[in-house]
Amino acid sequence: MISRRNFLKIAGAGALALAVTPLDMLVSSCTNRRGNENQRALLAAADRLFSQLDNNSVLLPGEQIVVPVLDAPLVGFASADNPLFETFKRDEVIGSQWRAPKEWMPEAKSVVVFFFPVSSAIRSRHRAAKTATNEAWNYGYGKHGQVLNAFTDGLTAELETMGIHSLIPTKDPSFKIEQHPVMSGDKEDVHYSTSWSNRHVAFAAGLGTFGVHRHLITKSGCSGVLASMILDCEMEPTPAAYKDPYENCIHCGACVARCPAGAISVENLRNLKECRTYAATLRTEDDPGYCGKCLVGIPCEFVKP
Ligand code: SF4
Ligand code: SF4
Repeated sequence: MISRRNFLKIAGAGALALAVTPLDMLVSSCTNRRGNENQRALLAAADRLFSQLDNNSVLLPGEQIVVPVLDAPLVGFASADNPLFETFKRDEVIGSQWRAPKEWMPEAKSVVVFFFPVSSAIRSRHRAAKTATNEAWNYGYGKHGQVLNAFTDGLTAELETMGIHSLIPTKDPSFKIEQHPVMSGDKEDVHYSTSWSNRHVAFAAGLGTFGVHRHLITKSGCSGVLASMILDCEMEPTPAAYKDPYENCIHCGACVARCPAGAISVENLRNLKECRTYAATLRTEDDPGYCGKCLVGIPCEFVKP
């Protein structure tokens, strides 16, 4: 396996090779190639980078076994001009904090979104565990950020060599989250108004719809993590196989039954305030309290039901 450091050296060697190409190739920009060539190049780079990640595994100390953290991602694309992006500004969706792709990057042409399923080795342990948290889920969850950072940093660098500029709103210093108290049925809840939402852009990029548990249900289920990037290069949008924002949810109520806090109801979805309060009760010096029982042992865990 090629380590990330070696990969960057190889990428650097690629940039050096460009120095001997004709002058017009040096004025590198995504418009030097046709849209689907850029898309194929991006997908190939993402595939290679993911398989070369050297931090996508975790040692479970209790079992003394190393398991993968995340599986290879599903990928979806949306045009920066997708009309859905304007609808996200409505208070009942995300709210006025939301910024459409061109408000982040005026030259934005598209958005790419990745859904990485949690590995089956971790999901199966969490599914079987009788307790709300367990070692595999906690250790895996704790590594999501590092794995996603390594992947998106590598992809950002590789896209630059192709003349494609990108921006990751959730890593930008201006990214904001505001929370507002709301009522959900007859219970107090909290609404998060954010300047970017991976779940919402994934919906726009054809990756899936929301469920009663508020996670995104893709064709590989809901138990996964998302990353997205705004690009200054056109990509063919991924057609959405749905119209309704909750179309992939069969409203079976299995996630309601899985929740140890009683924080989910089919009528009022996941109560984020109750979920957060319960997670805080799980946290100890030795346990970060990543619950996530509503992500496993349900019909939408790893498939679209
Ligand atoms: S478990 Fe059932 S109700 Fe809950 S999100 Fe999945 S499909 Fe919807
Ligand atoms: S994370 Fe846990 S507490 Fe929160 S909704 Fe899911 S199952 Fe319930």
